[in-house]
Amino acid sequence: MKKHNFYAGPSILPEFTKQKVAEAAVDFAGTGLSVMEVSHRSKEFVAVMDEAVALVKELLNVPEGYSVLFLQGGASLEFLMAPYNLMKSKAAYLNTGSWAGKAMKEAKYFGEVVEVASSKDKNFNYIPKAFDVPADADYLHITTNNTIFGTEIKTDLDVPVQLVADMSSDIFSRPIDVAKYDMIYAGAQKNLGPSGATLVIIKDEALDKTGRTIPTMLDFQTHIKAGSMFNTPSTIAVYACLQTLVWLKEQGGVEAMEKINIEKADLLYAELDRNKLFVPTVPAAEDRSRMNVTFVMAEGYEALEKEFNDFATSKGMIGLKGHRSVGGFRASIYNAMPADSVKALIEVMKEFEASH
Ligand code: PLP
Repeated sequence: MKKHNFYAGPSILPEFTKQKVAEAAVDFAGTGLSVMEVSHRSKEFVAVMDEAVALVKELLNVPEGYSVLFLQGGASLEFLMAPYNLMKSKAAYLNTGSWAGKAMKEAKYFGEVVEVASSKDKNFNYIPKAFDVPADADYLHITTNNTIFGTEIKTDLDVPVQLVADMSSDIFSRPIDVAKYDMIYAGAQKNLGPSGATLVIIKDEALDKTGRTIPTMLDFQTHIKAGSMFNTPSTIAVYACLQTLVWLKEQGGVEAMEKINIEKADLLYAELDRNKLFVPTVPAAEDRSRMNVTFVMAEGYEALEKEFNDFATSKGMIGLKGHRSVGGFRASIYNAMPADSVKALIEVMKEFEASH
């Protein structure tokens, strides 16, 4: 039976990426060695890193004056590296969920954290709209897509300060205006590759302003100077990211991807709004994530949750169980998720509805 992968991360990757990685796991770039066995200083791997950086710049239209890095430590380490490198004394944070909260916790080690708004009052099921950002804040930190709660900021905000964004779960899902950001970061394991690589896009000019001494590995300058090779990168993870970037370019880039993502998300939300058994957890259409579609059983049908999960699993739908802080279900439909898998899920929902 065909499996449809709705896991939130690590999650579905393009067939192209998996095929290329499988080949390179045995014979990388004609070396006769695995991509896991070659030196990161070999000319073959240096070419992989260079091409991956160049493709990130091309696909996101990164302006001059920004560095692109592939680091380790996940987005979680960037919660710390962002304020360590960018926060002089005060930074603003928009609290849209657990990941934003974790980012705020780390920032508090470095100065004053102003929570400009929070959607905690409704279990983070919306994106706060009206909030003031102090003009003297060093940046506003946002989580563009809230993987757990299924909300997403789908535009580049207009605020009086530069943005720092955790784009772990929606990077490359739409075009972005990089110039509005001092820093963008993303763990690779949703829209880019396997876990083990973290993408960072950082504005060079924003660095060296804190007066702080930063330990070597946590200093962005270290990694910029060393071309992401200060320490040994995860060669297979970066190789996989490169293949996804190549695939993305072939699909028509982030503009084409956005169109497909809107179509997929619209299909699924339309079914959730129609089907009597389910309700999306995010009421406002403009706040609904195109990447993580969260839903619960409708009132009166709560007792069917386990039965639906078992039914969907029996039909090849994998990874639909929602995060424990929301409950219910979460269909993660990242870039690599074919529209056919979304349609297959909708069929399963309809079939379940018909039998109840
Ligand atoms: N930020 C967001 C939005 C996430 O979805 C995740 C992981 O799921 C993280 C941060 C943490 O990423 P990592 O596990 O790479 O540290």
